[in-house]
Amino acid sequence: MRTIYKKLMMVVANRKVQEADIHRALVETLYASPASLAIGALAGLVISMTMAFISRDLLVWISAGMISLIALGRIISAVYYYRQKRSQESASYHFWGNVYELGAWAYAAMLGVQAFVTLIRFDDPAIHMLSVLLAVGYAAGIAGRNAGRVEIAVGQVCLALLPTAAGLWLAGGQGYHVLAVILLVMVLGMAEISRTTHRIVVEALRGKRQKSLLATKYERLARQDSLTGIENRMAMQIRLRDAFDASDSPQDRLAVLWMDLDRFKEVNDSQGHMMGDALLITVAEKISALLAGRGYVARFGGDEFVILCPGVGLKEAQPLADDILATFGCGVDVGPHHLPVTASIGIAVGPQDGQDVDELLQHADLALYEAKTRGRNCAVPFARVMKERFNRIHEIERGLRLALEQEELAVWFQPIFDVQSGQIHICEALLRWRHPVLGAVSPGEFIPIAESMGLIEAITHYVIRQACREAVNWPEDVRVAVNISPISLRSGELPSAIISALLESGLAPSRLELEVTESIFLHDDGQTHQMLQDLQKIGLRMVLDDFGTGYSSLSYLRSYRFDSIKIDRCFLRGIVTSREDQAIVRAVGHMADALDMEIVAEGIETIEQLDYVRLAGIHNVQGFLMSPARTADEVMEMIAQGIRIKDAMARRRDEIRARCA
Ligand code: C2E
Ligand code: MG
Ligand code: MG
Repeated sequence: MRTIYKKLMMVVANRKVQEADIHRALVETLYASPASLAIGALAGLVISMTMAFISRDLLVWISAGMISLIALGRIISAVYYYRQKRSQESASYHFWGNVYELGAWAYAAMLGVQAFVTLIRFDDPAIHMLSVLLAVGYAAGIAGRNAGRVEIAVGQVCLALLPTAAGLWLAGGQGYHVLAVILLVMVLGMAEISRTTHRIVVEALRGKRQKSLLATKYERLARQDSLTGIENRMAMQIRLRDAFDASDSPQDRLAVLWMDLDRFKEVNDSQGHMMGDALLITVAEKISALLAGRGYVARFGGDEFVILCPGVGLKEAQPLADDILATFGCGVDVGPHHLPVTASIGIAVGPQDGQDVDELLQHADLALYEAKTRGRNCAVPFARVMKERFNRIHEIERGLRLALEQEELAVWFQPIFDVQSGQIHICEALLRWRHPVLGAVSPGEFIPIAESMGLIEAITHYVIRQACREAVNWPEDVRVAVNISPISLRSGELPSAIISALLESGLAPSRLELEVTESIFLHDDGQTHQMLQDLQKIGLRMVLDDFGTGYSSLSYLRSYRFDSIKIDRCFLRGIVTSREDQAIVRAVGHMADALDMEIVAEGIETIEQLDYVRLAGIHNVQGFLMSPARTADEVMEMIAQGIRIKDAMARRRDEIRARCA
């Protein structure tokens, strides 16, 4: 009931404001044409004075004097009105409306009286013509000119014409009588003209007013985030631009905090979008309450919020960011639910961190990215190295697309030796890329970038094709291993790419190994497992790469069947001295034996490491001690020569010696 009453009162208040605006516009129409006002006043003044001069009658002189005074008064009041309007002083429209009204009534009445007096007191046709002409001409002009205030227009027409008609009737003569009647009819006609013009003017003003109200409403909606009610990205960008424009000195600081909720997607996925929306509304409320006038907050889309604090440097921005982190640090209560979300924040302070809006926002975003990579739930200020890293990533992104198109990515092969026979048993395909400006870029750097830009699938298919093409030329007992990114596994296109590469090259499926990492277990909804099993069924071998560095649970080894495990090189690094590493490598060796899997030790760099893994019963070894990755031709030559571990080590020593010499 109360809200209905409130809404009703608001509607009434709005209507009042609207009517007041229209009234103001109508008053403005009265003063809208200063030239016509001046011409009307001057004509009255000149004609009245002429009549007084011709008649030499005191009464006419008096009326001419009064008309002149009123005319002058009206001109002066119009000048004052315009001055006040130009100086933007808050003009009182009621006052100026009344001033005009008074002048208008008095002027019209004086013209009517003057016409009446001159018609009945003199027989001079010239005087009659002048007085009637003045009254009729004025009335005709005023009917249209003052239609904005119809009551004034009609009143003036009556005051000017009715006494004139009476004077004509009393002055006698047929022609005068006809004219008097016509004047009466004219009063009605002019009143109608005034009313019609008034209606059109008011409708036009109402339409204009409504248009401007709608424009204001849509502008407000366009700046508002429809979910949370706080400002949106566009509004914040305008606010930022204004803040930059308003800062006169380079010392004026401007802090931007770019906040993002950690694990928001998980809330959305597990609890539903309604809960996600409710969480965002709560977050917006909490930030607004926390800022309490210290800055402005806007939702930039998704779970991203940007806070702008004018006049604030890093010293003040950091505690504010800490307050925000503390607010969300223990999760957020949404109704009866407790949601375990935290926040990450990137801080950039203008002008030192950004000379314009876009740069400042971009740097705050980079700082946010850094906060995410530092483990989330923290606030990180922008630093120049972040920009350098960003530029490098950008450079790699551009170059990578081109390199793939022009087949500039080289597939090299690193031999993996059988410890028992000493011969090359497998060759791992490893990408090599020389960027035109950055030089050699490691796959460890560009593969994650390719994953983030959606290029990894094409790269994986390219490597598989090249690897199969080369491996088919090797002896039948040498296999080829290809690294498969978890993203390529999820797309579903992998099996057909593998099958067509095998058919195209003629390589037996049993000679192709797919190396996957433990990260695939984290996001597997069952499809990856199925796909790997299907590929195994057609003869491919599955290898678990970098074992021991990722998802540290062994339970997946029960359901996924791997043909081979590669112990990560970090366990080999301290194998000779560290009892822990020795224990782990031995344990993995036993486990692989028990589960009937082959085992590869990666990263063998010393003879001691090689001796240790040999004693530990590891089947295969891979490492710089024997060979780094080599071009397809080089590795082909090694295989053709039947190079064994010992020969490979000697060749490697020679290579290193030659390089040092
Ligand atoms: P990874 O699959 O574990 O590959 C082995 C990496 O260890 C290779 O680095 C290899 O050069 C390096 N390595 C071999 N022996 C030694 C050693 O004795 N000492 C040391 N310190 N390192 C050794 P690379 O070629 O830089 O590749 C790094 C990673 O990039 C690979 O790790 C793999 O995860 C990824 N990668 C490389 N090529 C591809 C590819 O074609 N597709 C995908 N998805 N990933 C690839
Ligand atoms: Mg690998
Ligand atoms: Mg590895």
